[in-house]
Amino acid sequence: MTVLELDETRAAVLHAPRDLRIERRPLPALGAGQVAVRIAAGGICGSDLHYYLHGGFGAVRLKQPMVLGHELAGTVAALGPGVENLAIGQKVAVNPSLPCGACRFCLAGMPQQCLDMRFFGSAMRMPHVQGGFADTIVCAAAQAVPIPDSVSLEQAAFAEPLAVCLHAVTRAGSIFGRRVLITGSGPIGLLLVIAARRAGASEILVTDIRDAPLRKALEVGADQVFNLAADPDALVPYAAAKGQIDVAFEASGSGAAILAALPVLRPQGVLVQVGQGGDVNLPISGLVGKEIELRGSFRFHPEFETAVRFIAEGLVDVKPLLSAVLPLERAVEAFDLAADKDRSVKVQLSFG
Ligand SMILES: [Zn+2]
Ligand SMILES: [Zn+2]
Repeated sequence: MTVLELDETRAAVLHAPRDLRIERRPLPALGAGQVAVRIAAGGICGSDLHYYLHGGFGAVRLKQPMVLGHELAGTVAALGPGVENLAIGQKVAVNPSLPCGACRFCLAGMPQQCLDMRFFGSAMRMPHVQGGFADTIVCAAAQAVPIPDSVSLEQAAFAEPLAVCLHAVTRAGSIFGRRVLITGSGPIGLLLVIAARRAGASEILVTDIRDAPLRKALEVGADQVFNLAADPDALVPYAAAKGQIDVAFEASGSGAAILAALPVLRPQGVLVQVGQGGDVNLPISGLVGKEIELRGSFRFHPEFETAVRFIAEGLVDVKPLLSAVLPLERAVEAFDLAADKDRSVKVQLSFG
């Protein structure tokens, strides 16, 4: 056991939409089974952007100041009592998910649905669970997943969004040899391309309403891309004979994208909804008539360790997604850049 010399840390705290401040916050004392992690890289996620731009998404609303951030990697800075599997200086990806392990969903093997979940940087519960855009955080030792020294902490910070995509692929069932449509070519859409390719999809089509992210999709392995703003009818050929797409992953959260996916899905095709968004009017008869399966996908659990392994072993390449790294003190600029989809894919903050 070592004692953490610091008792406070800088953090990016959201007070209200577009009111993001760098503040000093007290660091909790290290409890049994906890570690302190000096954060090096923190990716700005779509959900961080929803909080920053709109104060939340759906029913989830920012009700008190909250440190944002849950795509984190760093090095172990101090060990609490009883922590034996980690050492000071070990590089780790931080799993932001901390399910209780005891509720009926945890016991049923779906801890992402935990009734007492503490997920970093989430306003789903009161008081909110603080996030990790901070120089130093305290977390459970089990949340600090070791990565080899050869892997950069920037790459390791992609483990969380990659885990989201691996979970979405799990939700779809086998996509081996299947033709897959991915709607939305932001960071999650792009990581879905990578995940779908690894899961054996035979053909991957990607849609967006901007050219820049679609070029990125080709770079990370998409077979064909379509700009639906420039060519709204681009998917029409795939609607032939009741639909040519086996599985669609919806990563934009836009109602228009969901509605565009339904006609091209084949009968008994699966639509996995990954993107968060507002309410949408669905053509129920279309769903019923073609026996389409609509499946939500939320966060991840075992997939986090898989994502770390894929990155650590070089089985996936997330580097093309990283657009820019800005220091914590320029967090507002970083968030504005992350919100500009013509100029960025994934923007990370650096710390310390
Ligand atoms: Zn995320
Ligand atoms: Zn639980």
